[in-house]
Amino acid sequence: MTATRVLVLNSGSSSVKYQLLDMRDSRRLAVGLVERIGEENSRLKHTPLTTGGASRERTGPIADHEAALKAVAEELAADGLGLDSAELAAIGHRVVHGGQSFTEPTVIDDTVLAEIERLIPVAPLHNPANLTGIRTARALRPDLPQVAVFDTAFHTTMPESAARYAIDVETADAHRIRRYGFHGTSHAYVSRATAELLGKGPSEVNVIVLHLGNGASASAVEGGRCVDTSMGLTPLEGLVMGTRSGDMDPAVIFHLMRVGGMSTDEIDTLLNKKSGLIGLCGDNDMREIRRRIDEGDERAKLAFDIYIHRLKKYIGAYYAVLGRVDAVAFTAGVGENAAPVREAALAGLAGLGLAVDGDLNAVRGDEPRLISPAGARVAVAVVPTDEELEIAAQTYTLVGKNI
Ligand code: AMP
Repeated sequence: MTATRVLVLNSGSSSVKYQLLDMRDSRRLAVGLVERIGEENSRLKHTPLTTGGASRERTGPIADHEAALKAVAEELAADGLGLDSAELAAIGHRVVHGGQSFTEPTVIDDTVLAEIERLIPVAPLHNPANLTGIRTARALRPDLPQVAVFDTAFHTTMPESAARYAIDVETADAHRIRRYGFHGTSHAYVSRATAELLGKGPSEVNVIVLHLGNGASASAVEGGRCVDTSMGLTPLEGLVMGTRSGDMDPAVIFHLMRVGGMSTDEIDTLLNKKSGLIGLCGDNDMREIRRRIDEGDERAKLAFDIYIHRLKKYIGAYYAVLGRVDAVAFTAGVGENAAPVREAALAGLAGLGLAVDGDLNAVRGDEPRLISPAGARVAVAVVPTDEELEIAAQTYTLVGKNI
């Protein structure tokens, strides 16, 4: 029997998202999520997709990642998709920070684990959780190839002029301070899918990708290679996000310390969790913000305007970085669903060849689609992202090569 299935694991500090795919036809066999690991009220939601069966839920304490993965394995086994199956080819793990070390998906061994661990200081929230997921999965199936797919990898092609901050070089290098970028799996997938939508190869097109979810980032992709992206050392830089500030004068931090008497941790929480849309208007869900705007809410309107202003600045900046732009692609929760965001972000940019057709923009759908008027100089596209499929595809390709 050929092994054609890949399990994709996205391990957070208190959650594990998973998907099992069959790579013969990129079909999903099961998807699920374990939440609130380590708490009393943990929850596992498992959806089998082969049997047409309904979702199943388990509630009650799930102590740690090991218990979570064991519960996932049991659910999969109940559908005849157990992790002991000879059809499982590999497990692909999302790993947030690969630093400069990892430019490609990598088969995990002890050396790779040690390097991901060494990167914890630049990704203190994410890499430890990713490592726990990997260690647990390796213990469950020590014989199976495990592959790390890094959020930063797609951005390692950025030139030094885009990747370096203008600070003292020795200090930057001593602390590995540079712009790494994140959401790379999504930017890679969406830029390629956009080229495909245009009937071209990735090397033939320049694309600005706008990944607008709760976290948000933009990238400039030249002929399939990332040349700039809006997130930096951490995911805090760049666009206004659901709860993150994005760009601001770094001196705001000194001011908050010296004048506001805030601690480093308090400022970290303020900028990562209590800023962006939620800080500006109390809501981080774009649906709610639009609803409030429709009711005449001024704070929600200002939050929306600040969000759009920043987004427009990045579109202009990446237009200049690329020189020639073939397409702008919107993706992720906001980018795929919020027509008013797409319309407002490109309003007034007809001089750059950028426009949105109102009717096409209003259409909803799960497939990649164009929303620019016929004959537009620059294509504008909505391209649903699929990070799990991209992780599975990269994992499967790599494991296939190594067999
Ligand atoms: P993501 O991080 O990609 O899952 O995106 C989550 C965000 O997408 C939510 O916080 C909402 O702001 C936004 N979102 C999801 N569905 C919609 C929708 N139908 N309309 C507008 N925004 C949406």
